Amino acid sequence: MVGRTKGGEGVKEPKQKKCKSKGCGVLFAPTRPMQTVCSVMCAVLDARIKREQAETKKRQEQRRKDRETRDKLKTRADWLKEAQAAFNAYIRARDADQPCISCGRHHTGQWHAGHYLSRGARPELAMHPDNCHKQCAPCNTHLSGNLVLYRVNLINKIGLDRVEWLEGPHEPLKLTVPDIKAIRDKYRALAKQLEKETA
Ligand SMILES: [Zn+2]
Ligand SMILES: [Zn+2]
Repeated sequence: MVGRTKGGEGVKEPKQKKCKSKGCGVLFAPTRPMQTVCSVMCAVLDARIKREQAETKKRQEQRRKDRETRDKLKTRADWLKEAQAAFNAYIRARDADQPCISCGRHHTGQWHAGHYLSRGARPELAMHPDNCHKQCAPCNTHLSGNLVLYRVNLINKIGLDRVEWLEGPHEPLKLTVPDIKAIRDKYRALAKQLEKETA
C-alpha cells in the first residue's frame, strides 16, 4: 500500500461514481473513461430503457402527426359534430344526479342530452347550457322532447327569466373552426373535471 496522507504523493484512489442505470445507483470505481454504469448488467438494462424511451417518444410523435393530418381533413361540420358531442357529454355529467327534465323519472335506461329549443330550429342555442338538460330516451326520442313538461320543469330549474331569454331572439353565432375547437376542448375539460369530482 502506498501512503495516502492528505496532499501526499501516493496513488490517488479512483474517483467513485454513482451508477446511472435506473434503480441501481451504487457507487463504483470506473475502469474506463466515460463509464456511467457499474456493470455489464446495468449497461444492458440502461440501453434497454433508453431504447424503450426513444420508441415511446417516436410513437407519441407519430400519433401527434396523425392527429394533425386528420384535423386538417376535418370539415367545419365535423368540428361542430365533435363539439356538440363534447357539450352533450358535459350536460349528462352536469345533470348526473337529476331525473329526466321532462317526465321527472329516474330510470335505468338510456340518457340523452335533450334540447329544449331544437338544434335545427335554433342552431345558435345548440351548445347553450340552459337549453340542454338530461333527458330520458323515451321523452327525447319518442315524445319529441316532451316539450310541454320540459318547459314546466325548466322554469322550476332555471327560472322563467332564463327560459324566456332562451325563447327570445338571438344573433347567429358565426363560429370559426378555432372557436368550435375551443368549445369542444372546454366542454371536454369540464366533463372530465365533473367525472373526477364524482369519482
Ligand atoms: Zn449499476
Ligand atoms: Zn323522460
